[in-house]
Amino acid sequence: MAHIIDGKQIAAELKDRLAQDVQALETAPGLAVILVGDDPASQVYVRNKIVACEKVGIKSFESRLPARATQAEVAAEIKAFNDNPAVNGILLQLPVPDHLDSDALVQLIAPHKDVDGLTVANAGKLFLGLEGGLVPCTPQGSLILIKSVLENLSGLNAVVIGRSNLFGKPMAQLLLHENCTVTMAHSRTHDLPALCRNADILVAAAGRAKLVQGDWIKPGACVIDVGINRGEDGKLCGDVDYDAAFEKAGFITPVPGGVGPMTIACLLANTVKAYGLKRS
Ligand code: NAD
Repeated sequence: MAHIIDGKQIAAELKDRLAQDVQALETAPGLAVILVGDDPASQVYVRNKIVACEKVGIKSFESRLPARATQAEVAAEIKAFNDNPAVNGILLQLPVPDHLDSDALVQLIAPHKDVDGLTVANAGKLFLGLEGGLVPCTPQGSLILIKSVLENLSGLNAVVIGRSNLFGKPMAQLLLHENCTVTMAHSRTHDLPALCRNADILVAAAGRAKLVQGDWIKPGACVIDVGINRGEDGKLCGDVDYDAAFEKAGFITPVPGGVGPMTIACLLANTVKAYGLKRS
């Protein structure tokens, strides 16, 4: 039976430390969130982020644009926040409506304010292993969870399912920097179960409910479930068949209460880091 990695608790501890760090700063760091349209899930995420900011003393700025907003209008909001010295972090809530080019918009964010770590400059720094960049929040939080239970990752086999820019690619880079032997799996991968059975660390981020079966898990493995899905019973579930995996894994994150809380905590951590990177 696995040890359950308590993401809620670890995120709470990180937020406590951040609240202390914020108190020691001259001024409050600022995080700006841009929300385009009225997607209900995005509205909940934005609300949660703002509440979390307030709790640690980060000032939040919010820009809500209608679903019909043009590329130029969203770009103008980003530029205004880039130019606002009270704003240290800028987040464009994704997805944006289909008529907008989200990739182009994200690249307009000043790299030192890019708390999602998605600009070319930050992705490049992560790829090259350079200091001073901002790392995407969910992989950053996932690595903290892995390190909370595994002291030394060197030489371990890590399999990351999913290759998105937001999660899979940066997660693989972070594990590579920890000297893991990393395999990236995706929708075209042959014999995913066999790959997973060799994983000391298995990170699932495919967005497919209960994709990872219990008999895919190497006994004692560390299983990080990033997926957020609605199961057939209407309940929230991850990409891993939790009950079956729990019997075989050494460590496992629950859904909810695993990776999710770490994403928000790391967003706050990135905002505090961005405050330190601020240009005068
Ligand atoms: P995405 O749709 O951009 O990428 C999914 C990836 O999974 C793709 O690379 C695809 O090739 C791969 N994939 C899909 N089906 C597969 C299959 N059957 N076998 C192997 N690989 C497969 O998604 P994303 O933005 O990376 O998010 C992935 C999941 O993580 C989603 O469920 C999302 O909701 C969740 N997520 C959670 C958090 C959090 O805070 N907990 C943050 C970001 C994303």
